[in-house]
Amino acid sequence: MLSWLFPSTCELCGETADDTLCPACRDALPRIPAPICLHCGAPTAGQQTDPDLCENCKGQRRPFTLARQALRQTEETMKLVYQLKYHHALYLARPLAAVLNELWEATPHLLAHNDWVLVPVPVTQDKLYTRGFNQAEALARHLAKRRGLRIMNLLERLDTGIASQTRLTATARRLNAMRAYRCARPGLLHRRRSYPARLVLVDDVFTTGATARACATQLKKLPGVQEVVALSLVRIGA
Ligand SMILES: [Zn+2]
Ligand SMILES: [Zn+2]
Repeated sequence: MLSWLFPSTCELCGETADDTLCPACRDALPRIPAPICLHCGAPTAGQQTDPDLCENCKGQRRPFTLARQALRQTEETMKLVYQLKYHHALYLARPLAAVLNELWEATPHLLAHNDWVLVPVPVTQDKLYTRGFNQAEALARHLAKRRGLRIMNLLERLDTGIASQTRLTATARRLNAMRAYRCARPGLLHRRRSYPARLVLVDDVFTTGATARACATQLKKLPGVQEVVALSLVRIGA
């Protein structure tokens, strides 16, 4: 009824559609091409040595079981992320969560268990206040609804005084990320003896993996947590 009264227009092509991304535009979004690094999801085509593991993952600590991203970085995918993040385009969260769900369906390890709990990557209190919402949480909520899963805000993002990760070198990013995330301190009444064994960290973008590594490291300190999978919408640089 509502969609009849207020038909949506597709964010990318502008045509009238049932959703804010029409099926044609959603299908045309650039997926990450195989082969990929089995650990972090980076495309490994053309890599000389080991097609199963990217150069970046060799010799790295691996706090998360695996990381997967749905889309490559293009003008269109960045437009969607940008709209969602900075223009309060919350209406994009549902169709973009459908893209994440498609990635879930293509990830055997996620399908092998049904007790996953989703954990959104947090933003600072300042950003939450100015933006009014956390884009990763919006994606996680729609994904959780689709899959009938729970969502828990187990992390918090501290203000480290560095405005953005974007312009930092890989090493600086790693150090900054390790300082920036910690497990949320629940009030005395909400403190738990045990946490869910399997967590899926949800974020809009994946750049070097520094955020996912930092968040997974923190989450695995919680009693009962066995593994963390990192699921993101867009892989920057892919
Ligand atoms: Zn369209
Ligand atoms: Zn890798």
